[in-house]
This record gives sequence, structure tokens and C-alpha cells, in this order.
Amino acid sequence: MTLDELLQAEIPRQPVADLAYTDILRLDQLHPLISGNKAFKLSGHLAAAEHQPELALLSFGGPFSNHLHALAAAGKLLKRRTIGVVRGYADVALTPTLMDCRDWGMELVFADKQSYARRYEPDYQQQLASRYQALVIPEGGGGEAGEVGCERLARHCLGYQQVWLAAGSGTTAQGLIKALRGSNTEVVAVNVVADQGELRRRWQQQLAADNWRLLENYHLGGFAKCPAELRQLIRHYDQLQLPLDPVYTAKLVWAYRQQYQSDPALQQQQRVLLIHSGGLQGRRGYPL
Ligand SMILES: *Cc1c(COP(=O)(O)O)cnc(C)c1O
Repeated sequence: MTLDELLQAEIPRQPVADLAYTDILRLDQLHPLISGNKAFKLSGHLAAAEHQPELALLSFGGPFSNHLHALAAAGKLLKRRTIGVVRGYADVALTPTLMDCRDWGMELVFADKQSYARRYEPDYQQQLASRYQALVIPEGGGGEAGEVGCERLARHCLGYQQVWLAAGSGTTAQGLIKALRGSNTEVVAVNVVADQGELRRRWQQQLAADNWRLLENYHLGGFAKCPAELRQLIRHYDQLQLPLDPVYTAKLVWAYRQQYQSDPALQQQQRVLLIHSGGLQGRRGYPL
């Protein structure tokens, strides 16, 4: 199976048990190996890589990276060499995420703080590309190609007044906003990063469409912070068979519940779709 075929298949969708008129699209259930929004982001980059089958796929990430995990899985499925440039040191024990990556055949290259800080520099990327005979994919699968890959999510969102999702770099939301332009569906993005308005400024400059809202008050202390109330929410939804990850999807549901409780419109007539963007493998880094 190619990644394209996988992403054209039906995606499980279910009502959220304790929130009326609300469905959730389970990208986490896409495929046993590769899932989440990172599969969609990668599909855009892999389209560009198809014409150069001899090149490995190289990208960057931290020790719990959903992106490297998805890239390694894609490499295994598509039988392509993958290289992960990991922020950290080789003499520290591998995380469960990196063990999966290694088991799926990814070559792990550790980069100290200084080298890792250069991951966006064209010079550095050039060096890596020629040293490893690789196509370089930006951290998180971002950039134009990643965005285009996410436009494919749009067809799952039609018929809903609103579609809600978590935003980190914002790439996934951008693809969706562009693809849903002119439809009746508004995109509501929950920023999980305390970024002092940076993403909002970028969107205001770059997104011509006005079919989006960005909520900035639900990062709960900052990126990857998981206070007790969030852990409690995760346990609550575990019992309802809706597993959430602490970094992205739990904050999405947290934000949605806050708005839902204060906005009667959300509790009536409106149909809302939440996007479960995956990331459950990252739960292994949190004591829940
Ligand atoms: C990376 C990631 C996101 C954020 O996606 P962006 O395109 O960077 O906004 C959301 N959810 C999960 C589970 C992710 O791994």
C-alpha cells in the first residue's frame, strides 16, 4: 500500500460520548504503523520524493517526535531509507519513540544543541543532503509541501459548521484553512504553544481567507506542559475509549469543552468536528 492509498481510505469518525453534536475524526486510527496529521504532512513531501527513489528521507526531531516516528514508519512501509537527526546525545538511553524508529530501520544521527539549532540553515541542510544522499524534510514535516498534504483533510470536514484542531507550527491548520476557503466550514485552531502572538501575526499576513479563528489561551502553561487538570481530562476520556495525547489533542479537547460550556450555540444546532491528530505514541513520555 502506498501512503496515497492509505490517505484516501475512509477514516474512522465517532461522536464524542459526552458532548452533543460533536464528532471526532480519528486520524490516530489511520493505520497501525503510521497515523496522525504527520502522515498527511509527509504525504506532501513524499510526492516530491517519488521522482528520486534513490535518495533517503532525512528529517529532524526531538526524542519523542511524532514526526520522526511517522517518517520511520513511512520508510518501513515504502521501503525507503530514512535518517533521523535527533536533538540529543547518543549515550543517553533511547526513548520508546526512538526505539521504534530504529526498529523500523531509521538511521539515528544525534545532534548537539549547536548543530540542532542549524536545522533551518540551507548550508547545513545541503551538507546533510550530500553526506547521507538524502532529501531533507523540514522539522515537523512543515513548509509548503506539508501544507499541501494537509489539504486532503478537507473532504472529511464538509457538512460541519466548525472544525477544530490543535496547532503547533500551524501547518496542518493552514492547509485546511486554504482548502476550506469558500465552504461553509470555519476552522478553529487551538494554539498549544505560548508564542506571544507569533502564529496569529503570520496568519494575518499570509492567509487571505477569513474562515479561521485562533484560540491562544489554552496552552496550559506552554508547549508540552501537562498540569494535573489536563491529566485528569485524559483519564476521563480514557474511560470513554477516546485516548488523547498530552501535547496536542488533550489541549484541543480542553479548549473545546471550555468554549462549549460557555457558548450555548455550540450545544445546539451546530455540528462540530474535532480532529484527533494522533500523537498517542508520545504518551509513553508522560507518567499518566
Ligand atoms: C505535530 C502535531 C500537531 C501540530 O501540527 P502542526 O501542523 O505543526 O500545527 C498536532 N497534533 C499532533 C498529534 C502532532 O503530532
